[in-house]
Amino acid sequence: MHPVIFDGHNDVLLKLYNAGRATASESFLKGREGAIDVPSAKAGGFGGGFFAIFVPSPTDLDSKFEEMTKDVYDLPLPDPIHWEDAFPVVMSQAAILFELEEQGALTICRTAAELRSCLAEGRMAAVLHIEGAEAIDPDLNTLDVLYQAGLRSIGPVWSRETIFGHGVPFRYPSTPDIGAGLKDQGLRLVKRCNELGIMIDLSHLNEAGFWDVARHSTKPLVATHSNVHEICPHARNLTDKQLAAIAESDGMVGLNFAVAFLRADGKMLSDVPLEQMIRHLDHLIEKLGEDRVGFGSDYDGAVVPELLNSCAGLPKLRAAMRQHGYDDALMTKLCHGNWLRVLEKTWGA
Ligand code: ZN
Repeated sequence: MHPVIFDGHNDVLLKLYNAGRATASESFLKGREGAIDVPSAKAGGFGGGFFAIFVPSPTDLDSKFEEMTKDVYDLPLPDPIHWEDAFPVVMSQAAILFELEEQGALTICRTAAELRSCLAEGRMAAVLHIEGAEAIDPDLNTLDVLYQAGLRSIGPVWSRETIFGHGVPFRYPSTPDIGAGLKDQGLRLVKRCNELGIMIDLSHLNEAGFWDVARHSTKPLVATHSNVHEICPHARNLTDKQLAAIAESDGMVGLNFAVAFLRADGKMLSDVPLEQMIRHLDHLIEKLGEDRVGFGSDYDGAVVPELLNSCAGLPKLRAAMRQHGYDDALMTKLCHGNWLRVLEKTWGA
């Protein structure tokens, strides 16, 4: 039996929101076109993860992915989104997550103990995460209220400027060291998140923003869905120097399944063998140690390797990891143990 997977990032709430609230919980419970739903999770041993709330930019995703199949690309950062526009979208997607809980599809976890018991009992676990803090006001009132509602993780930016900082563009090949980092307001956000026990996600920050969080946060450094820059020199991936800082803080990285961040050529093309994912895992384990690596699939938000196009395919990945020589203890850590450890340290028990 493979250990159950707890995952650092999915965008299923955005997909359910786009399809319309009326069909959300039924399609999630009975099965839908997409990567995550209850039947696929049961089949694949997907025990849950961070459910991202994300406010989409009015750009066409297909044309963005098309551009990312070229040898070299540099997508411009989308325009900022104002609080008045972002807030209702965040409320709608949060409401969908609460409805999924009400309908018995999953449990929203606010403590590490709740997460631990969900995974042990085979109930799908959800961590309420916001990817890009456009819905947080400058006084952070919404942050406090959302925390009470269950928010336990936030990215100060997606790849788009906010009042808190500057995001990293989708650029290949490229250093992540592009542009300014956090603004003063971003430093206040970090401080309040530390006080409340909300995890700060580094994944869409550029390198300057990364070091700003590293300098100011009192908690382990975490990139929920990012890969190895040494293997795939994409602006979204982490350099060995960044990985060293994450290790030193006792944080972790979740392996992103998005093919553009896995492939050495940075292309958003899905014919990626599982060995390429294991190359990233090996490098992450080498730089971070066995206790600081997990998954952050980006399911329902990215093009992923063909074999894993739904979470029902996850046993294939775990079989490949076993075959590569990862033992039982390491498998358990990578599949969920490390996320539990880091969240316990970040949230408090
Ligand atoms: Zn993302």
